[in-house]
Amino acid sequence: MTQKEVKVFDLYSVTKEDEKYYEELGIPTYCLDEYHNQIVKKDGTVKPKYSSKVLKNIKPLENNITTKVKWELDSTEGETLSMLKNSVKKSKDLYDSCKRKYERYEHLLVGSLPIEDKIFEGERHKCNLSPIGRCMYKEDASGEYECVFCGEPEERK
Ligand SMILES: [Zn+2]
Repeated sequence: MTQKEVKVFDLYSVTKEDEKYYEELGIPTYCLDEYHNQIVKKDGTVKPKYSSKVLKNIKPLENNITTKVKWELDSTEGETLSMLKNSVKKSKDLYDSCKRKYERYEHLLVGSLPIEDKIFEGERHKCNLSPIGRCMYKEDASGEYECVFCGEPEERK
């Protein structure tokens, strides 16, 4: 890693007097933290952290600029990190896709049961009599939900 000195906008150095300057630029005081620690560009301006249509780049007063150290990855470090990040993303995509397949197949299996009632998945309870290991519910005559396999109600103590 390498470090270099950069100039940044320092919110904590802004005085009441300075606030007036920024207000005249159209930046209300409560928005100034949007510029805190933002790096001063070559043209002397800083941009807000989150680009928005409301806040524009401003030129900070000299006494609101301070020098800080910026740490940067060298190219090998940067590539390694982004490669690893990429594999995390790929694994996550694969996980999501497998999970969808798993759930779809489970749904298919439940749908193929010779049960006339409309059944649905509610509160998750372990069920020894269910082909998927969990209770599936239907509405009984009194409007309560009970498991079509074990007959237990959805709401349990
Ligand atoms: Zn059950």
